[in-house]
Amino acid sequence: MHVAIVGAGPAGLMAADVLSQRGLAVDVYDAMPSVGRKFLMAGKGGLNITHSEPFAAFVARYDAPDWLAPMLHTFGADSVRQWMADLGVDSFVGTSGRVFPVEMKAAPLLRSWVSALKKRGVKIHTRHVWQGFSEHGALNFTAGGESLNITADAVVLATGGGSWAKLGSDGRWFEFLRQQNVPLAPLCASNGGFVVAWSGFMRALAGLPLKNIVGWVQNEQGDVLAHSQSECVLTDDGVEGGLLYALSRPLREQLVRDGAAALWLDLLPHVALADLTAKLQPSTKQSLVNVWRKAGLDAVRIALIREALPKDDWSNAPRVAQCLKKYRLNINAQRPIDEAISTAGGVMQSALNEHLMLHALKGVFCCGEMLDWDAPTGGYLLTACFASGQHAARGVLDYLGLNDGAA
Ligand SMILES: Cc1cc2nc3c(=O)[nH]c(=O)nc-3n(C[C@H](O)[C@H](O)[C@H](O)COP(=O)(O)OP(=O)(O)OC[C@H]3O[C@@H](n4cnc5c(N)ncnc54)[C@H](O)[C@@H]3O)c2cc1C
Repeated sequence: MHVAIVGAGPAGLMAADVLSQRGLAVDVYDAMPSVGRKFLMAGKGGLNITHSEPFAAFVARYDAPDWLAPMLHTFGADSVRQWMADLGVDSFVGTSGRVFPVEMKAAPLLRSWVSALKKRGVKIHTRHVWQGFSEHGALNFTAGGESLNITADAVVLATGGGSWAKLGSDGRWFEFLRQQNVPLAPLCASNGGFVVAWSGFMRALAGLPLKNIVGWVQNEQGDVLAHSQSECVLTDDGVEGGLLYALSRPLREQLVRDGAAALWLDLLPHVALADLTAKLQPSTKQSLVNVWRKAGLDAVRIALIREALPKDDWSNAPRVAQCLKKYRLNINAQRPIDEAISTAGGVMQSALNEHLMLHALKGVFCCGEMLDWDAPTGGYLLTACFASGQHAARGVLDYLGLNDGAA
């Protein structure tokens, strides 16, 4: 039995892992000159591969928890750690519960993984660009200037989302599946930055962090839709970082609906409003900036006050305190999809059976970020890619009638 996998990222390689362990002939095709480029990029700042929180909290991070729960139940955080250990890569739990390989990078893990796959006979074909399906349903590739059609007993598509195109996942697959009448949700940026129309003096602060803040998104009635305690970084034209990633989805939804969104911030969550108001009282003995600094305001918080309040209000302690405790940041847009850590949207759940096989294309399975689920970064993205890669592979075994153990 022969399976063709398109995409040699975490999801596709995990599907290859499962299928090759069962003795199937597996060919993996990737457009890039080498495999797992986005995975390696994810390891650059420290590969946060999964999260150690309890399962119920873990699965609640996803926007499609019911869909993903069975997959994550079978291959969740503990399985990811065990799988890494089997490949000779130890992991540790950081203070926030996030899990990293001891060496922090993705490269040693990827090297060991690919070597294990090759030992099991998995053939990896790089520089093979999938161009869609031929008239007869074969996979059509271009490679070395030639066009070739490949058939297999089953196909796994694991072509990623639509960001960081230079790493391979350019989202071109979307059009190929649309032509096959596969239900698709538009790809959009997730875990990326947002645009704010800063005044000139704010732009000078680009790169500076806002640490230990609470952010939330609320509806018109003032009900909190989502909140997060984290940090963010000022950019030339807005904000990015963990807080924005956690609130990506409700902000994006507001932007789509209203053309603008509001991010609410408590810039000093550890100080009560009354205490802060007292600390901000102007004094004849010291400058206003000194009063602000003593009250715990750093350069960024001071600049944000200046950005939000007219000068006449700066010595109005209750107003400044109120502004710091409930700061409204007007968001105008998302940064472009190509810059985002991940993309939401993709192959909809309704397009697939419970084994991740497309209703429209018998024997063709999908997994990884190309599926229509979303989560904040922090190990959740990679874990769902691994888990869905495993799930699709088990679906292939089922489809080929091999779930009895015989390949
Ligand atoms: C800067 C950055 C940091 C990140 N940090 C983290 C993190 O710390 N934790 C976390 O959980 N996640 C992180 N991620 C996200 C994570 O890397 C992705 O969610 C994950 O790699 C997606 O896996 P995938 O296998 O679905 O797709 P991908 O990794 O995108 O792999 C898809 C593969 O398919 C190939 N392909 C696409 N189209 C074609 C085609 N037409 N023909 C042939 N091949 C094709 C591509 O070349 C690619 O190799 C980060 C991402 C980025 C960009």
